[in-house]
Amino acid sequence: MKISLKSWQKAALVAAAALLSVSCFALDGFSGNAAGKPEAVAASTVPAAASKSTAALKPGEAVVHRGPDVKYTVPEGVSILMYHMIGNQSGNAAIMSEANLRIQMNYLRDHGYHPITMKELYDYVTKGAPLPEKPVCITFDDGYLDSYTVVYPLMKEYGFPWTLFLVTDDVGKPYNRMTWDQLREMANSHTVTIANHTLSHPKLHNLKTRAEKEREIVGANQALKYQLGIDNVWLAYPYGDYDDEVIDVCKKAGIKMAVTTDAGRAHVGSYPFELKRAYIGNDISLARFSERLSKDNYSTV
Ligand SMILES: [Zn+2]
Repeated sequence: MKISLKSWQKAALVAAAALLSVSCFALDGFSGNAAGKPEAVAASTVPAAASKSTAALKPGEAVVHRGPDVKYTVPEGVSILMYHMIGNQSGNAAIMSEANLRIQMNYLRDHGYHPITMKELYDYVTKGAPLPEKPVCITFDDGYLDSYTVVYPLMKEYGFPWTLFLVTDDVGKPYNRMTWDQLREMANSHTVTIANHTLSHPKLHNLKTRAEKEREIVGANQALKYQLGIDNVWLAYPYGDYDDEVIDVCKKAGIKMAVTTDAGRAHVGSYPFELKRAYIGNDISLARFSERLSKDNYSTV
């Protein structure tokens, strides 16, 4: 949740953001019609990234393998699914069972959903780039050991690209955390995008100085580069907590897109530093899961 400003400040920022997004479109070679609306690029076109060989990829860049018959369109929205820990602990719905995760991944596969990468999501949000039909973005936060022992092999089995937002200072800690060696294996598998979830998972707006915010955001990017060779440009705000200074620090650190924990979906033209996500846990039935894949105003838990 963003720490709000007075309404006049907000209005000025919205205007500035609108200007910024227009200039971003121009810089990125956005091709739209006179009304500034993205034009649907011809369906059935497979973007180069979808068939790129793993040899040319950088560590931590997920590659997607899709059939030539997959149609590409510009959808009205994309759900970014937000998962955390996988396990069998009762009393915390956010800790999801492996059985439930498998049921949901079966649902995606059997209903023709196509999980997409962060890069595909970014191109869609900022340039109106086409996506495979029925797109969905799968994200896991924090970097628990089960992201390596359960999620990583399971997503490989389904052939689904996914994203891990990693708290870098927690790597190697004894309780339920993975090691840099395990992360290196994942980064070099090109099945998962590994991204920034700060050094130590603070509420970023609570940090007293800009320098502390920089340390959390820049430091995590440096760890990803030093340990895994990743030139990271994606971030998830811990607790979904951020303010305007945090966004500014992200931009200066080279972050191009950041996700929150606010409920909703991403669209063409969504501000890339405030993307909403759909919470998924044990308390989300399959009916609610399917609603969260396709509706902006889905029912609450
Ligand atoms: Zn987190």
